Amino acid sequence: MNVFSSQRSSRKTSVVTGGAGFLGSHLSDRLLAAGHQVIAIDNLLTGNLRNIEHLFGNTDFRFIEHDVTNFIYLPGDIDYVFHFASPASPIDYLEFPIPTLKVGALGTHNALGLAKAKGATYLIASTSEVYGDPLVHPQKEDYWGNVNPIGPRGVYDEAKRFAEAMTMAYHRYHRLDTKIVRIFNTYGPRMRLDDGRVVPAFIGQALANEPLTVFGDGSQTRSFCYVTDLVEGIFRLSTSDTHAPVNIGNPSEMSIRDFGEAIIKRTETSSRLEFKSLPVDDPRVRQPDIALARKLLDWEPLVDFETGIGKTIDYFRPFIESAG
Ligand code: UDP
Repeated sequence: MNVFSSQRSSRKTSVVTGGAGFLGSHLSDRLLAAGHQVIAIDNLLTGNLRNIEHLFGNTDFRFIEHDVTNFIYLPGDIDYVFHFASPASPIDYLEFPIPTLKVGALGTHNALGLAKAKGATYLIASTSEVYGDPLVHPQKEDYWGNVNPIGPRGVYDEAKRFAEAMTMAYHRYHRLDTKIVRIFNTYGPRMRLDDGRVVPAFIGQALANEPLTVFGDGSQTRSFCYVTDLVEGIFRLSTSDTHAPVNIGNPSEMSIRDFGEAIIKRTETSSRLEFKSLPVDDPRVRQPDIALARKLLDWEPLVDFETGIGKTIDYFRPFIESAG
């Protein structure tokens, strides 16, 4: 018996914390497409029901508004717990530093406890931020990172590092089947226009013909992965027998200045780049080494930048037009 029916179904049931967020909602779509029943949990602090409104008529989908830093009670059988709840953009975790720490720590503990009680497989969304401002480039999973624990970004970086440690403790001590994905910069539809991340910021500014705010001199690099590629990697990881962290991201690296110029060209805007000060502890470089994902999951990104950014621009366009 589970929340969907009074009979034990042979179908898989997955819980997605942060299910109304950018990644959680795309992951829910992918799980439903694979035939899972999905219970999405979200406290809507940074998530939005708009991201899952297309699922509300779907009898395989349930939404529960709940803060997973509090005990999670769910009746019945559960096969997978995907812990994706967290503020995840720099301005969000600067605005909500304590909820960010709590969801990475207490939320991770509760989600692990739920997986343990149900005998479920557990997968935690970790991040390239565990590498901090990396001294190794590109970043491989065996690099331990260069994180400032007390800087403004530390609330997110250390929460995720704690979450990884807690996950491995449940794996080693309780023999829980756990997976850790280290997610690199991901973009696509359902990002929030005002979440402060560079992709929605630049696209929003370009579509509104406003200056693109480049932080620092724009020489810092990021490697952008389209969301459906990321979700496919996560789905494959969930059914793998790997317990060590695995990087999922797109290795095609570019400077923020080049990214801004690409957005200007693509949107045919009259906007220009405008240089602002660099945020504290902003990583200089970031690029995933995905050899492990290639080997273990037979996974690599398929959506090129031109295609992915085109879809993302098309998603944001109506928001700007209705605001203007
Ligand atoms: N950035 C920028 N202008 C903006 C927002 C971000 O130049 O309006 C820069 C930011 O300083 C960082 C990069 O873009 O170097 C990526 O920032 P984002 O917030 O998207 O993610 P991060 O990888 O830093 O977590």
